Amino acid sequence: MPAKIIDGKAFAAKVRAQVAEHVSRLDKEHGITPGLAVVLVGEDPASQVYVRSKGKMTVEVGMKSVEHKLDVDTAEPDLLALIDQLNNDPSIHGILVQLPLPMHLNEDLVINAIDPAKDVDGFHISNVGLLGTGQKSMVPCTPLGCLMMLRDHHGSISGMDAVVIGRSNIVGKPMAQLLLNDSATVTIAHSRTKDLPDVVRRADIVVAAVGRPEMVPGDWIKEGATVIDVGINRVDAPEKGEGKTRLVGDCHFESCAERAGAITPVPGGVGPMTIACLLANTVTACCRANGLAEPE
Ligand code: NDP
Repeated sequence: MPAKIIDGKAFAAKVRAQVAEHVSRLDKEHGITPGLAVVLVGEDPASQVYVRSKGKMTVEVGMKSVEHKLDVDTAEPDLLALIDQLNNDPSIHGILVQLPLPMHLNEDLVINAIDPAKDVDGFHISNVGLLGTGQKSMVPCTPLGCLMMLRDHHGSISGMDAVVIGRSNIVGKPMAQLLLNDSATVTIAHSRTKDLPDVVRRADIVVAAVGRPEMVPGDWIKEGATVIDVGINRVDAPEKGEGKTRLVGDCHFESCAERAGAITPVPGGVGPMTIACLLANTVTACCRANGLAEPE
């Protein structure tokens, strides 16, 4: 049977519609508009695209969007002063500093300067600790989007064998933590893992977050497994014309889809869910800041 294609684009649209509904209720019932501030340092083209689309979608769901674009050579104290200002601005409920930062800026220092209650990316050390101990926190957007798709597809993932390939702080580790909090049996694989194909073959759920185009072939996938492909890799596409490119995931889609029970495509899988979860986190932060009931 061909794998079910998990449509992240449609799911994300549903999540954004729910966010918009909540935002409208907050306005009508409490006169509150959630606000999201995005800080971009430098002119990395991919980051510029992400920031633009985050701003556009923030406005589309009825929230306030503020963008701060800073020079590539912005000094650390100036960036920290801006974060302090946003921390103290009651109209801002979420703050996102677009990563990666230029080399001269200390990413940990900058992220940990954000008020944890406004840390809608969930990267602040307090939120990492809260997630790690199963307490209420801000959850990183990409892994949260993956978990939502898994819960939607499976209902419960309790007791399932999950393998996360990749151990970054922004995807792999929080993903593993979320799967564990949902009672999956979790293995984290990385570049030093021995016999990666065998490790992956055991998995009922495979989450690939590596950054290597089509690294996972279909014959690593257990029959019927669910494959969540986080990777976004741009590769040459001479078949589309000279100099053309296309996006591929970390999994070889066609061969993985032959064996998987369900799979996310790239593009149109995890990517759209990430921004939808960012918007949802901002509403959650706004509700918490005002002592109001949070969205489910
Ligand atoms: P990082 O580069 O920070 O981490 C990559 C991880 O993959 C590392 O833990 C690394 O292991 C592991 N790895 C590298 N090579 C291998 C290998 N041959 N075998 C097994 N593991 C390996 O990447 P990110 O976590 O930031 O991102 C991963 C991918 O997800 C990228 O393609 C990125 O573009 C995409 N992404 C997509 C998002 C979305 O919204 N869809 C959001 C964020 C990221 P080690 O630690 O040992 O070096």
